[in-house]
Amino acid sequence: MKGSIINDKRCSSMQLSAEEMARYSRHLLMPEVTPDGQRRLKAARVLCIGAGGLGSPATLYLAAAGVGTIGIVDFDDVDLSNLQRQILHGTKDIGRSKLESARDRLHDINPEIEIELHKSRFSSENGSQLVSQYDMVVDGSDNFPTRYLSNDVCVFEHKPNVYGSVFRFEGQTTVFAPHLGGPCYRCLFPEPPPPDSVPNCAQAGVLGVLPGIIGLLQAIETIKLVVGIGEPLVGRLLHFDALKMKFRELTLRRDSQCPVCGENPTIFSPIDYEQFCGARDEEAVPAISARELKQKMDGRERFQLIDVREPFECEIARIDGAKLIPLGEIAERVDELQREWPIVVHCHSGRRSAAVVRLLLQRGFANVHNLEGGIDAWSDQIDPSVPKY
Ligand SMILES: [Zn+2]
Repeated sequence: MKGSIINDKRCSSMQLSAEEMARYSRHLLMPEVTPDGQRRLKAARVLCIGAGGLGSPATLYLAAAGVGTIGIVDFDDVDLSNLQRQILHGTKDIGRSKLESARDRLHDINPEIEIELHKSRFSSENGSQLVSQYDMVVDGSDNFPTRYLSNDVCVFEHKPNVYGSVFRFEGQTTVFAPHLGGPCYRCLFPEPPPPDSVPNCAQAGVLGVLPGIIGLLQAIETIKLVVGIGEPLVGRLLHFDALKMKFRELTLRRDSQCPVCGENPTIFSPIDYEQFCGARDEEAVPAISARELKQKMDGRERFQLIDVREPFECEIARIDGAKLIPLGEIAERVDELQREWPIVVHCHSGRRSAAVVRLLLQRGFANVHNLEGGIDAWSDQIDPSVPKY
């Protein structure tokens, strides 16, 4: 770690009272923290998006650890179905605003810190203004528009974005921070999945403990960045599978073509993320199903299968025989395709590959088909040993 995200001047302007010395004594004893690190924590301003499953454990521990100012942005009220995992809130809080419930609980743990409440949706209108007031963001959101918004605003404002997501028994976390040398969310996922293709926790369920694990990892990464110790999860994605009880690490790379953090960015301010994530391209392209693809393979037909995902996705799951040409390279590598053969293009869910099919048709390819539902459909219908992600 190159250093704390809190500069020395702000650190030295903080004093620790005798009571705070006692409260944080287990931190102060560690040579990696010391009163210097604790003062940086006290000076730090951390914005948590959402006071739900991830925000609960993250803010509870950040408050206990002495992060001086915790901002929370949320608009929801506490519901009975939240309590299985959102441990900031109690049964007595049902019907209250999550923000007020969170403030009371966090101040009970640590009355020394400031809690700033932002009762609204985190949006394109308020995102930059909110993030600019803080040193970093803990993204505890559970939907794609908010993730892209949080990512883009943090890139624009040069603030680390500690990402976390959970799904049933699996979760993942990383730190998006192009200004610290890592990729951003868009480098990994240039396009959102088709609407309704990825269910959220409300639709698919989640093991209540799981956001506890991921939210705590987000809290640890936050503390490391503030104190300036260890190796942050910049450029690395940590994936956790609770059923297998396994952690896996994937190396992430920056995309030089990324529209927000690449060499020639094209997006400089928040866009309409609902539209970005919700807009379906109505123009249909020729498509085949996973079953039809399997028949082609079994029948030993001559054709070329092109995978237009990113290399790290290929590490997670692949269809045997597919040639990898990431979406961003396809236009310049079109000569590697066999013009005389039929071509099938696939990606994760069928969206990026549809764009490539359209491009190839424009370039004069006659026989090009999109694999409907992408490798996900292949995993569902043909080969369940291909991991879904
Ligand atoms: Zn990027």
